[in-house]
Amino acid sequence: MMTSKIIPVDPFDLVIFGITGDLARRKLIPVLYYRFIDGQIPKSSRIIGLARSAFSTQQFRNQAREALKQAVSEKHFDPALAKRFVSCLHYIKNDVNSDEDWGELQKMLKDSDNKVLAFYLSVAPVLFSPIVKQLGRLNLAKNSRLVVEKPFGHDLASARKLKSQIGAVYNEHAIYRIDHYLGKETVQNLMALRFANKLFEPLWNTNHVDHIQITAAETLGVEGRGEYYDNIGAMRDMVQNHLLQLLCLTAMEPPYKFDADAMRDEKLKVLRALQPLTGEEALRKTVRGQYLAAPGAPGYLEESHNKDSQTETFVALKAQINSWRWAGTPFYLRTGKRLRSQVAEIVITFRSTPHSIFGEIDTPIRPNALVIRLQPDEGLNLFIMTKDPGPGGFRLRETPLDMTFAGNSGDDWRPPDAYERLIMDIIRGNQTLFMRDDEVEAAWEWIDPIMMAWKNSGVPPESYDSYSSGPAGAVELIVRDNRRWRDIVA
Ligand code: NAD
Repeated sequence: MMTSKIIPVDPFDLVIFGITGDLARRKLIPVLYYRFIDGQIPKSSRIIGLARSAFSTQQFRNQAREALKQAVSEKHFDPALAKRFVSCLHYIKNDVNSDEDWGELQKMLKDSDNKVLAFYLSVAPVLFSPIVKQLGRLNLAKNSRLVVEKPFGHDLASARKLKSQIGAVYNEHAIYRIDHYLGKETVQNLMALRFANKLFEPLWNTNHVDHIQITAAETLGVEGRGEYYDNIGAMRDMVQNHLLQLLCLTAMEPPYKFDADAMRDEKLKVLRALQPLTGEEALRKTVRGQYLAAPGAPGYLEESHNKDSQTETFVALKAQINSWRWAGTPFYLRTGKRLRSQVAEIVITFRSTPHSIFGEIDTPIRPNALVIRLQPDEGLNLFIMTKDPGPGGFRLRETPLDMTFAGNSGDDWRPPDAYERLIMDIIRGNQTLFMRDDEVEAAWEWIDPIMMAWKNSGVPPESYDSYSSGPAGAVELIVRDNRRWRDIVA
């Protein structure tokens, strides 16, 4: 069995705005429970939930226990531990837009001896600024940390506006912008793979890498959140943050140190080196799609309640990084809803061997590929060519060197949720896995002209069948470079 060392954290007060919402119920409360059962929540710590509904702390604790039963696996749900955990939870009724509703929170925080105070904004982005203003007005922000969920802005202008509103109260070193992909075990393993091994670094450049694919495919559609999603779309929801962050971590130069600013400086350089995609070129190198209905599953236009919607539920694009390391190695990014399988992965395809000594054999030599899988079955697979065993001739086959974490980590291993690490990093004061404001802006700077080109073209998104691999245009995007997408298979 693998033993993991739990690094203690200081006692904390974690104030969560929007505690009755979907994210808090499905993720934040369950992941805090997991950290509790692993002994990482110090005794006097408090999790203080706020929302508009009027109920007591006891009612809230009962609700939280029910939410845990739903979200936590049977194996890990222990009623006695759950009871102890919910005793750390407190509830305060608070409408953030009302000046009167803040007294109780002030009272609770006034005499706290807990060393760390963090405010987690698990609410709609329109509430970010009003909450921060109140925290400033009431002098609660002092020495605290602020956690902001995505999306951070809608475009460059709105991201800058939000930055200046939040910046009036918090300085950058106290702001934790969540991109939960960065908390995923495999993403951190990508750092270990690249920077704790000598093997890959000499190959990690355009001389040896033919191209890189980054895919995040979902099987679900917008599931009743159509009206909300219609103002966002896949580019803003997935590409601007998750996919570009994965691209940065794959492409960046080795930072001098695994620390927040060193890492983020290197990621920023990648974003700034992205070849801009504007006008005609943006249309040629990007594809957007919208899913159609399938038996028992409505199409996007029905779900969004907007029959003229041009919001994309799928994006594929070809990006180029203008650097010595990557010039000549395209990055193909793809994300979409209602696709064939639930898959998130990075595929590094190496260049082919220069010459085959094997002549006419049954199996062609396929280029080596390193698949870094975030979902499902987090792990790494390195595909290499080997000889088919046995004396019956010489045939080659593609064999994965499999490092699926679950299989290699013992029966008791539970894949940690990305939010577990991220929340504990907030308490520790470690910003390495959070996006800095200049990264967010650089990402919008690259995204905005593409969205502008789409808008100006007036061309609607291409339809695609639900549970397919996406629109035909996405296949065409890569086939015209004599390459093909890796199949979307879980
Ligand atoms: P939600 O709509 O389910 O919940 C919003 C919460 O805000 C509720 O608790 C509600 O009571 C509270 N609220 C609304 N108006 C309020 C007011 N005036 N005063 C006080 N509280 C108020 O939203 P969600 O899905 O939980 O998302 C929360 C945030 O997390 C959003 O920024 C979203 O973009 C982000 N996010 C959510 C998910 C997810 O899986 N749900 C994933 C990534 C990011």
